[in-house]
Amino acid sequence: MKKRVLVTGGAGFLGSYLCEELLNKGNEVFCLDNFFTGHKKNIIHLLDNPYFELIRHDVTMPFYIEADEIYNLACPASPVYYQLNPIKTIKTSVMGSVNMLGLAKRIKAKILQASTSEVYGNPEEHPQNENYHGKVNPIGDRACYDEGKRCAESLFINYYRQNNVKIKILRIFNTYGPRMSANDGRVISNFIVSALKNKNIEVFGDGSQTRSFCYVDDMIKGMIRFMDTPDNITGPLNIGNSQEYSIIEIAEKIIEITGSRSKIIFKSLPEDDPLKRSPDISEARKTIDWNPEIDLDEGLKQTVKYFESII
Ligand code: NAD
Ligand code: UDP
Repeated sequence: MKKRVLVTGGAGFLGSYLCEELLNKGNEVFCLDNFFTGHKKNIIHLLDNPYFELIRHDVTMPFYIEADEIYNLACPASPVYYQLNPIKTIKTSVMGSVNMLGLAKRIKAKILQASTSEVYGNPEEHPQNENYHGKVNPIGDRACYDEGKRCAESLFINYYRQNNVKIKILRIFNTYGPRMSANDGRVISNFIVSALKNKNIEVFGDGSQTRSFCYVDDMIKGMIRFMDTPDNITGPLNIGNSQEYSIIEIAEKIIEITGSRSKIIFKSLPEDDPLKRSPDISEARKTIDWNPEIDLDEGLKQTVKYFESII
């Protein structure tokens, strides 16, 4: 059945793939974005589709539309961008969630929140499962994002408990792929762009901190599958690839794949940069029968190909 689906942050990296996949599945898609970190070029190939509508709007302002489902992705995801205007980042997560939950309540739509592994902060438990409550510094440089997303989770669960809004909280771990901005500031795009230009690759700290990287196609499949679960399943649900790598390993891998002449140099570690991160995805395996299928080497090759084509 054709559904009307609102995707906030739809012109961003993940949002653009989500819009595309929802259209491929025969739905009508409303893509809402204020173009802070998103770009028209991410969705330009969708503009001719009569079932796709692009709306310039900021989620911190109320918005009304008739829809069956809402994916709430609006929020800058790169530490560089979410720290540019921290108050706005908090407003986007908190006021954006209030506005979208209010809309969902009014039109009786199902709503999915793009939450994040950042709710675990600099975790003391490893790998992180959904029952761990995290270790977040509420006044640190990353707090505007982490606490904004934590507050959003709280809003979502309370709209469910108090108002029976059909909610899904998805905790997304680091995801990468083609269509990330060349100046996005996150590690995979930074390293690939530097490697392709044979410029120094800047590793923050000693590079022993770890992350686990999920390819975008796997992520989008998981998101849609979670939205399709019965109404009593609210999450939070971790989703990501659990293969863990140190940042220095990532730098070396990217140099090898690109055949780059780049040197690795070391810069200071930003405040509160999590030292370890890897998702426990047993719940995702059970609830949505989901497992990432694209390993890092394959995903990086696709991503390198993309950046070669745009640089
Ligand atoms: P992105 O920065 O490419 O996309 C975010 C989109 O939201 C952009 O198009 C931006 O213009 C838009 N936006 C920002 N503020 C807005 C506002 N106030 N009103 C309307 N639109 C606004 O980042 P992404 O990687 O595609 O992330 C999408 C979502 O997934 C974010 O909510 C992010 O927190 C979450 N997430 C992503 C990752 C990841 O690794 N990619 C990890 C965890 C969580
Ligand atoms: N990082 C790095 N060099 C860069 C960008 C990031 O060493 O040019 C490190 C960063 O300090 C962090 C990891 O890579 O430890 C992942 O950073 P990213 O900004 O991609 O995401 P997040 O920290 O939010 O997971």
